[in-house]
Amino acid sequence: MDVIIIGGGVAGLSCALYTSKAGMETVVIDQQTSQLGSVKAVFNFPGFAQGIAGEDWLLAAREQVTTAGATLTLGKATELKTTNRPYTVITEDGRSFTAPYVVLAVNLGFELLTKHDYALLVNEHVPSRKIRHIEGIGYDGKTAQPGIYAAGLIANVPSQSVIAAGQGAFVGVQIASEFLQKPFMWHD
Ligand SMILES: Cc1cc2nc3c(=O)[nH]c(=O)nc-3n(C[C@H](O)[C@H](O)[C@H](O)COP(=O)(O)OP(=O)(O)OC[C@H]3O[C@@H](n4cnc5c(N)ncnc54)[C@H](O)[C@@H]3O)c2cc1C
Repeated sequence: MDVIIIGGGVAGLSCALYTSKAGMETVVIDQQTSQLGSVKAVFNFPGFAQGIAGEDWLLAAREQVTTAGATLTLGKATELKTTNRPYTVITEDGRSFTAPYVVLAVNLGFELLTKHDYALLVNEHVPSRKIRHIEGIGYDGKTAQPGIYAAGLIANVPSQSVIAAGQGAFVGVQIASEFLQKPFMWHD
């Protein structure tokens, strides 16, 4: 395994698309509770002027990511062992995954982060003040530990799907570039 993405919502799926396209063995552990899933229609995705149902976007993105080679697995990540690299992620049902790269794309899944001593602050881009971000995180999503990244709202971006997707893609490109030891670019 090369990369473990915890959270297969907008940012996590977007990230997985790039890491798997780059040939990295990618697993996405997801509880399938993306905030986008409950949105009847989203009208601000460029290219979807007539709107797209959140669940339809997620279904299409899951299929795209699987076609690119990623493995999507339903489950809840409950343990993150970061003392030694490669890192290990354990799920609630006892499965264990090990990889040198871990992406935290959990949005409201604060429990996993606080349990592992990530300090969380209010994401000031979101008026409800219910969204948090990892303290000190920037748009590149890099945490203090090499190979561990944050993606999506937990990386302190505004709550707009296209921005969460874009930042997740940026994280995927950075990981792919480091892995391949040359800038990764996907041009068809
Ligand atoms: C009511 C509402 C309406 C919205 N309308 C719009 C809109 O019109 N336009 C727009 O652009 N945006 C809209 N948004 C915002 C959009 O949904 C978010 O910006 C986007 O979903 C954030 O992406 P994310 O990847 O950070 O988080 P999410 O998409 O929420 O994904 C997080 C994923 O992590 C998983 N997860 C969490 N913890 C764990 C764990 N421990 N183990 C495994 N999986 C885990 C969850 O199950 C989930 O699938 C709306 C949001 C809401 C709530």
